[in-house]
Amino acid sequence: MIIQLDPGITPAALETIKQTLQHGGYKSSEVKTQKAYYLVALGTKEIDIRTIGHLAGVRDVHRVSDAYKLVSRKWKVHPTAIDLGDGIRIREGELALIAGPCSIESEEQAQRLAQHLKDNNVRIMRGGAFKPRTSPYSFRGMGLDGLKMFYRVAREHGIRVISEVLEISQIKEMYDYIDIYQVGTRNTQNFSLLHELGRVDKPVLIKRGMSGTIEELLQSAEYIFANGNEQLILCERGIRTFEKAYRNTLDLNAVPALKEKSHLPVIVDPSHGVGVRRWVEPMALAAVMAGADGLLLEIHQTPEEAASDGQQTLNFEESARVFRRAREALAARC
Ligand code: PEP
Ligand code: MN
Repeated sequence: MIIQLDPGITPAALETIKQTLQHGGYKSSEVKTQKAYYLVALGTKEIDIRTIGHLAGVRDVHRVSDAYKLVSRKWKVHPTAIDLGDGIRIREGELALIAGPCSIESEEQAQRLAQHLKDNNVRIMRGGAFKPRTSPYSFRGMGLDGLKMFYRVAREHGIRVISEVLEISQIKEMYDYIDIYQVGTRNTQNFSLLHELGRVDKPVLIKRGMSGTIEELLQSAEYIFANGNEQLILCERGIRTFEKAYRNTLDLNAVPALKEKSHLPVIVDPSHGVGVRRWVEPMALAAVMAGADGLLLEIHQTPEEAASDGQQTLNFEESARVFRRAREALAARC
């Protein structure tokens, strides 16, 4: 059960609500986000929610039987929109295009990329500064200096930046050089990192764990929300299955499922999802038709020379075509 509280509720009124819940067999936790104040109550007994709804300080009461609560669509029917300023948004009914290299490599790369994105009216740029690599001998990113440069170039072009945060100490370091934090598939269940991301006032894109279920992804998002940050974006990026013909199995079932279960925007990363350059476009278009609110694409001026993930990275010509066709797909879907 989710109880939305009046922000100015008195301690006595709060106590009365908690007592009433306790008598009804419910255990409640307070959640104060940057936007609102809630009590999340867990219990199995039947309770007439009107007995809570009538109490002083209560704005609204919703019954949510899912394991995740605040990210559920059962209480918040209006979809969450992420506003990055200057008309740049991630929200239902639109298609947020996010593109850039797997890894930030050089200023020249960033300049060429930003110009290409601007030419194609793509307003969010991706690039990893701290790279989680399977092998310790692979390129592990340019670090904070790379991110600073990337952010400056993006800003010069009116573009927003998303980059992956690997650990708690980086949250603060990255803060001034980022518009959206990305939580990668290897960290989807790093609960201490998720908890800390609840305290920042910038959006967080959370990828599905490579062997994570839909419910686990939603519970991970709940961790961030429950610690204060409501600005969340879910991302399907492919899961591990028995199939070896491609890097991952892009689970597009996740799109309608997540859209139905949660009010958060859902975007799809077909680059990691399929892992093969020539199959990225069809999967990107399929993702749009499945209902995705955006796409996260790896692109590079010369993918063959990319420091990481070149095999799944589109060149500028290919990416321009995907942007155009994805927008056409959105128009056809609506
Ligand atoms: C990435 O976006 O470059 C990345 C490492 O993604 P994932 O966490 O999905 O592997
Ligand atoms: Mn990558």
